[in-house]
Amino acid sequence: MADCIFCKIAQGEIPSTKVYEDDQVLAFRDLDPQAQEHVLIIPKKHLESVLALKAEDRDLAAHILIEVVPEIARSLNIDASGFRLVTNTGADGGQTVGHLHFHLLGGRSLTWPPG
Ligand code: IMP
Repeated sequence: MADCIFCKIAQGEIPSTKVYEDDQVLAFRDLDPQAQEHVLIIPKKHLESVLALKAEDRDLAAHILIEVVPEIARSLNIDASGFRLVTNTGADGGQTVGHLHFHLLGGRSLTWPPG
């Protein structure tokens, strides 16, 4: 998507502080961190939100949850202390960037419910 900021980050057109990358997935630090550790995990392929995932994306979704999230949590040393994985979806979900992303937040004790 030509005007998608996260596509531009995935393509290296906008700089980011990378914490993980493979052929399908990129993870980088959020510009406006809400916790000591705040990483955004995105598929390189443009998908608007979690609602855009289709059966053909099953392996990608599983890869993010089964391999990528645990690997990043371990690399940030928050796997034992715990963390939150969030994907804001649509207006009421608070989604501001229309490219599927998972917020991985940790490094402090997070409260619930969110605002
Ligand atoms: P959303 O509100 O759930 O859609 O999350 C979008 C996130 O992207 C916010 O936490 C922003 O701080 C973050 N963000 C927006 N632009 C950039 C950027 O260029 N680099 C890193 N994070 C960004």
